[in-house]
Amino acid sequence: MKRLVVASNNENKIKEIKEILSSLDLEILSLKEAGINIDIDETGTTFLENAHIKASEIYKIVENSMVLADDSGLMVDALGGAPGVYSARFSGEHGNYEMNNKKLLDVLKGVKKEDRKGKFLCAMVLIIDEERTIEVEGEIKGFITEEELGENGFGYDPLFFIPEYNRTFAQMDSKTKNSISHRKIALKKLYDEVKKHTMEDN
Ligand code: IMP
Repeated sequence: MKRLVVASNNENKIKEIKEILSSLDLEILSLKEAGINIDIDETGTTFLENAHIKASEIYKIVENSMVLADDSGLMVDALGGAPGVYSARFSGEHGNYEMNNKKLLDVLKGVKKEDRKGKFLCAMVLIIDEERTIEVEGEIKGFITEEELGENGFGYDPLFFIPEYNRTFAQMDSKTKNSISHRKIALKKLYDEVKKHTMEDN
């Protein structure tokens, strides 16, 4: 069976990616599951740049495996696109979802509902082999709520409201979120390429 190493240890992301690609005959491993323990500095200024940095660093280490790197985050219009590539460390402390959400609510205090537009963006880079690298992006638009709503998901999910569903990401079950998310949209664009490769002989 072909292997795909996902250049991340974010369990929420890995779970989503595994769910979305579950119909493929593919062994999907997180960095931890692949026995890789390195810290990669995300020094890029765009999601795509960061995804390339992560994918190529990990590809140097793995053997006989495709590598998929994702970089994602939230961009808020009223904040000129922030937190953007700083989404995970918006409050200063990397990965502190509670503090990040608090900071987002604080900086948007007083901003009217209609001016709280934002989008989640996901850039993905798939390295199939030395000759083949594919990059894609997915995005979903919504609004930033004035309080946390819902218990599911992770990160900014309780603050990200999607009018078409009349709910935040955190008020959706994972199946619904994973069927419309920025990651799903990006992965959908990669799906056929991954599938084709899982059926190649080598
Ligand atoms: P990354 O791990 O460097 O891609 O950082 C992603 C950060 O963006 C996470 O820590 C979250 O704060 C935020 N983020 C990305 N995707 C989502 C999502 O689907 N829901 C909520 N927050 C997300």
